[in-house]
Parts: sequence; C-alpha cells; structure tokens
Amino acid sequence: MHYHQYYQTDVINGPGTRATLFVSGCEHQCRGCYNQSTWNPCSGHLFDEQMMQTIIDDLNDSRIKRRGLSLSGGDPLFPGNLSAILALVTRVKEQCPGKDIWLWTGYLLDELTAEQQAIVELVNVVVDGKFEQSLADPSLVFKGSSNQVIHYLR
Ligand code: SF4
Repeated sequence: MHYHQYYQTDVINGPGTRATLFVSGCEHQCRGCYNQSTWNPCSGHLFDEQMMQTIIDDLNDSRIKRRGLSLSGGDPLFPGNLSAILALVTRVKEQCPGKDIWLWTGYLLDELTAEQQAIVELVNVVVDGKFEQSLADPSLVFKGSSNQVIHYLR
C-alpha cells in the first residue's frame, strides 16, 4: 500500500484530535473528486513498518492526546490496500486501547466483500458512499455529499 498524507495531529477529519492517514488507490472516479491525485495506487509514499509504528506511537503519545485514527484517501477499502489496512487496524485495536477508528470509503457498507468486511469489523465509524457532485454540500459535517452516510457501528 501507498499513502499520500499523514497528519500526526488533525482536528478536521473526524471528532476530536486525531491522527489521519490518506491512502493511495481509488477506483470510484467520482465526478468532482477533490483528491484525484490519490487514485493511482502506486502514487505517494510506501506505507511500511516504520510508518505503521509511527501511527501507533502517535496514538499512544500522552503529550498530545488523540481520540483516534482516521483513514481516508483514496479509499482504504481499495482492493490493493486491504491487507495493509487490516494489519493497521488490528494493531491499533490491540496496542492503542480506547482509541476509535473512523474510515471513509466510496463502497457501500452493504456491498462489501468478506475481506473488506473483516476490516469494518474493527472500525468504529464508517462513512460510506461515493462523492456525488450534484449532492455536494459544504455545510455537511464529516462528509462531502448528502448521499453519504455516517454509520456509528460500535
Ligand atoms: S471515493 Fe473519494 S477519493 Fe475516490 S473518487 Fe470518490 S471522492 Fe475521490
């Protein structure tokens, strides 16, 4: 997996103070996508063990208390990202007690493959659905268009 941006401290993408990872790779091609540079799964930087450890360390950093991890992109549930994202969310759940995980995806929750579903099982909140330019609304919180749904799973 590759990623485009990692914000060690973020107060925009999800509730509270968070760590946020924007992964590479997306096949949805939404019209009006604000992040087209992430579509190519080979773009950006390699997501390696060191990057994974940085995220774990940031979430456990007691000097800047973060509520959790946000995963966006690109699409964290893009097929080529699944093994790395599963490893990441598994480690967050095991090694960062009390931290929540939010995940944004263009796939619909009720259409996920078993592999994608295995990740969602470890995620607290999923915001699903493609970005629909005709339904775009800048006043929406944590989503870009009104068709998208915030699922508070656990
Ligand atoms: S799912 Fe997100 S990153 Fe992918 S094309 Fe749609 S708006 Fe862009």
